Amino acid sequence: MDNCIFCKIIRKEIPCNKIYEDENILAFNDINPAAPVHFLLIPKLHIDSLTDIQDNHQSLLGKMLLLAPNLAKEQGCEDGFRTIINTGRVGGQEVFHLHFHIIGGRERLPAMIHQG
Ligand code: AMP
Ligand code: ZN
Repeated sequence: MDNCIFCKIIRKEIPCNKIYEDENILAFNDINPAAPVHFLLIPKLHIDSLTDIQDNHQSLLGKMLLLAPNLAKEQGCEDGFRTIINTGRVGGQEVFHLHFHIIGGRERLPAMIHQG
């Protein structure tokens, strides 16, 4: 995907603050962190969003989920963290390359959605 910002990060055309990389997965700090720990976990394969996943992505997605708690702990989330996947317009997705936000720190995070 030529114009996808996360594909550019994967191709090293744009720098990132990398915390993990393997053949299929990359994790790097969010440029605009919402908490002391805030990184993004992405597949190297370009998938637009969670609504575009297919059966053949099962193992890749499983690996990403298995990785999330290990990386979170490594980054200092000793006592829990939040995983967010914004999907589509209503979900507030801004970058259309599937990514898991992993957010945490020492303090309890605020309520996710305010009712009112
Ligand atoms: P979303 O709203 O779920 O699509 O979130 C996109 C996230 O990507 C936001 O939290 C941005 O701060 C983050 N982001 C955008 N560009 C970069 C970049 N070049 N490096 C790191 N994070 C980025
Ligand atoms: Zn992409």
